[in-house]
Amino acid sequence: MRFRSSCIPTLKESPADAEVISHKLLVRAGMVRKLTSGIYTYMPLALRSLRKIETIVREEMHAAGFEEVLLPAVQPGDLWKESGRWEHYGKELLRFKDRNDRDYCLGPTHEEVITDVVRGEVRSYRQLPVRLYQIQTKFRDEIRPRFGLMRGREFIMKDGYSFDLDDAGAEASYAICKKAYHNIFSRLGLRFRAVEADSGSIGGNFSHEFHVLADAGEDTICSCTACEYAANVERAEIAFKGQAADSTQCPAMEEVATPGAHTVEEVTSFLKVDQKQVVKTIIFVADGKPVAVLVRGDREVNDVKVRALLKAEEVELAQPSVVEKVSGAPVGFAGPQGLSVPVYADAELKAGTDYVAGANKADTHVKHLDLARDCKVTAYADLRVITAADCCPRCGAPVELTRGIEVGHIFKLGTKYSEPMHCVCLDENGKEQVLIMGCYGIGISRVLASAIEQNHDENGIIFPPAIAPFVAEVINLDPADATVSSWAEKACKALEDASGEVLYDDRDERPGIKFKDADLVGCPIQVILGGKGVGKGVAETKNRLTGEKGTIALDALDEGIAAFVAHVNETWNARRP
Ligand code: ATP
Ligand code: MG
Repeated sequence: MRFRSSCIPTLKESPADAEVISHKLLVRAGMVRKLTSGIYTYMPLALRSLRKIETIVREEMHAAGFEEVLLPAVQPGDLWKESGRWEHYGKELLRFKDRNDRDYCLGPTHEEVITDVVRGEVRSYRQLPVRLYQIQTKFRDEIRPRFGLMRGREFIMKDGYSFDLDDAGAEASYAICKKAYHNIFSRLGLRFRAVEADSGSIGGNFSHEFHVLADAGEDTICSCTACEYAANVERAEIAFKGQAADSTQCPAMEEVATPGAHTVEEVTSFLKVDQKQVVKTIIFVADGKPVAVLVRGDREVNDVKVRALLKAEEVELAQPSVVEKVSGAPVGFAGPQGLSVPVYADAELKAGTDYVAGANKADTHVKHLDLARDCKVTAYADLRVITAADCCPRCGAPVELTRGIEVGHIFKLGTKYSEPMHCVCLDENGKEQVLIMGCYGIGISRVLASAIEQNHDENGIIFPPAIAPFVAEVINLDPADATVSSWAEKACKALEDASGEVLYDDRDERPGIKFKDADLVGCPIQVILGGKGVGKGVAETKNRLTGEKGTIALDALDEGIAAFVAHVNETWNARRP
């Protein structure tokens, strides 16, 4: 494709609202344009990359036995009322009415629709398993659309669904899809990790997220430095093996005045105690009911673990008015003693005594608190966020925390949708069985952004060959010169044979502009033809990944190009983990 006649509107400046590098570079490379908040046009270069990502996804999903469908983007509210999500989904669901005043929404995901399809078509266990997927535009009215394609409101997702007769079947579908995801992200050329994720009420080890490792990631993932264990910090278990504390060593609890000391820092500096000696009491509301959660002063509560423990749909921090009602004191002075709501304590607290906590009274704390003696703890459980100082819950080796971008998520759904929506079939004995579902998402447009987060330098994008809009760019420095142009076109032909379609920069621009644009757009291979080089009988080459430059003799152009393409591919392969 000729640069001259194509729509690649490169820019020198980044847009003012771009916070992360992929957003900046996607706009500067002329790949996307913003229509409105969280909604982008994919320009030709971006679309070429997206199509390559989709092709890899399609090939691997087919290999895993999934068939492609295309479900409607507009969904009737009635289906969502059947599943119960119409009430629960909140404002991310864009709802509207048609001319007959019926409720509709723009699909943020398609469990309801696919379940409706399958319950209409599947009668017998002989038709199982059903494994379907689609690649489609989704809409989620995200509270904070940001980072360009990384968290859009409109975005492209691959969503797959499996329906099986029993748990064993569902688990097989899950395992097949997990393998397919490994293949997909490996083929895309990305450094990634599959991590255990929160599986909500399903339990077991049946939710994995696939993260591209990059500093701009919104998630933190915890990986063992010795074994295979990796988990989203939301889920990462804590290896707690401590003994319960000996209460007899704790003096009687007493109140102390702590005027104006609300935070752990304020309380510890006022009372001159270590943060480890403080019990933080946080009031949450779980499905409408307040509960108290306790962690050590130097720890953070993990609300995902709280939700899992309580088997709640929704857990959120209590509003100040609720905190005041529960504790009888202003925010900052709650303590676990004498509360009338259930109290859940982090397991680690069991190993200590003689704590400081709020006194449930303004400007007052208590000293010498012993949890076993002075309060009613409903249950001890792992409720805190893991830290880099913790050990691997599997093997005890040190863990490390890194940033990741969630590009895929697989989940065993069980009967969450099939039960309320009555998606059933008859088993071998003619008995009705509720189907067991799984769902499998990949954020196609987020993959493009995360590939750039992981592969760029100060000059622009460094596309992995598998998803580059063009694997190669030919730069003609003297388009007015017929000899140079003829060699440039020969180079294009040789590259097309070796690596597919080529971007040919034949514009009447200064060489500096062409070099800058080539680096910005990030094709892995650059071949440069100019008067000087052609005079010496050579084309110049640049490997965008390594920056390494070289020459190819024009009298052996085809062979030289084939060798250079192979060399660039090798440098990419060598970089794989
Ligand atoms: P997140 O925690 O990032 O909001 P999610 O858990 O809501 O993601 P899923 O519902 O599992 O995401 O959706 C499947 C995939 O779709 C995600 O793994 C992600 O790659 C992609 N995705 C989700 N929300 C967005 C978004 N707002 N913009 C772009 N891609 C998204
Ligand atoms: Mg989300």
